[in-house]
Amino acid sequence: MEQKQQALPAKKNIALVAHDGKKAALQAWCEKHQDILSKHTLYGTGTTGHLIERTTGLEVIKLLSGPMGGDQQLGAKIAEHEVHMLVFFWDPLASQPHDPDVKALLRLAAVWNIPVACNEVSADMLLSSPMMETELCRTLPDYEKYLATRQVTL
Ligand code: PGA
Repeated sequence: MEQKQQALPAKKNIALVAHDGKKAALQAWCEKHQDILSKHTLYGTGTTGHLIERTTGLEVIKLLSGPMGGDQQLGAKIAEHEVHMLVFFWDPLASQPHDPDVKALLRLAAVWNIPVACNEVSADMLLSSPMMETELCRTLPDYEKYLATRQVTL
């Protein structure tokens, strides 16, 4: 499929997700970066979102809990260009009942070429980028063009 260019906005919609073994780390990270995060719109899976709100006072748009469908909701929002960046502290030392959903979420982030951080130091680097405050150009699949070139077969 051909690619096209599309900008991510300066004010970004950032998804925050942490597995149980990493929730404390993500809460601490959000406290550390509260000033920067407050300039953007935050989304979170259910439990992660509630904990971040409680710890930081930042407002989080809370979806379902990850294992109950929250990861899939986030994936859909990435595909619909509503979520622009993903900070996902997944736990590499614990198995997850919703592993297929976790994989699907990371896959969609790759398909739509949004910035993703899966651990604390990467998340620190992302947030320290000057592009957190500017538009960010990305390439993504040009599905509309692909559809327009398809032959109609009856
Ligand atoms: P939770 O979901 O924030 O509702 O715990 C996170 C996850 O495990 O995907």
